[in-house]
Amino acid sequence: MDRHFLIAIDGPSGAGKSTVAHALAEEFNIMHLDTGALFRALAYAALEAGLDSQDPDQSAALLDQVTLEIIFKDKKQKVLINGKDITSKIRTEEVSLAASNISVHPTVRNYILEKERELAEKESFVLDGRDIGTVVLPNADLKIFLLASPEIRAQRRLSDLLNAGISNTDYDQVLEDIKKRDAQDSNRDTAPTKKADDAILIDSSELSLEETISMIKDIVAKKLETGNLNG
Ligand code: C5P
Repeated sequence: MDRHFLIAIDGPSGAGKSTVAHALAEEFNIMHLDTGALFRALAYAALEAGLDSQDPDQSAALLDQVTLEIIFKDKKQKVLINGKDITSKIRTEEVSLAASNISVHPTVRNYILEKERELAEKESFVLDGRDIGTVVLPNADLKIFLLASPEIRAQRRLSDLLNAGISNTDYDQVLEDIKKRDAQDSNRDTAPTKKADDAILIDSSELSLEETISMIKDIVAKKLETGNLNG
């Protein structure tokens, strides 16, 4: 790709954003930034430090104690806390809920916002998150809002967890966690999960992952073909 361009993929947890974003990054030879991993990394650090991620003061104190770095090795994103790679530790349900809690605080969001923008300035990226199209990159070249029903997302999340060897959970628990996170992420005051006015809405409930990816690849390809990346 010879010009700088940015694709925002937002939506609730488990809608397939990360997988779709990864596939797009490969197809169009750009970088993928999983922004949820940044909140997860801070949430993990809070848990490790025994800090309450629901508490705004303790969360702000965490930012004084830790440095979050995002690096890419062979295009694969890694998150480092105080220089230590914790990428493999941030996918548990405990960290998911703590990430949702810590992401409510404006100080935390601003800290991460700066890192996201700094990266996106330098290179072409597909970023997946909750507020990329609305807050982080309101001028992104293409915005997608990816949805799926909570039940379908719970099924997908459960199979991801099982594939990752995490088996101490079941469907009902995962569904409950998803609904809790949905409510929290959509109702918070700062940068809630929301479709940007100019985002394309895709409901993947009835689509396979392959179909979803292929549909979005077509949308990107069409945008690139027409050169009309901002419309
Ligand atoms: O996408 P993922 O499930 O990894 O995100 C974990 C949590 O981080 C979300 O539940 C949400 O609260 C928060 N998040 C956010 N804004 C983003 C990405 C993630 O608030 N752009």
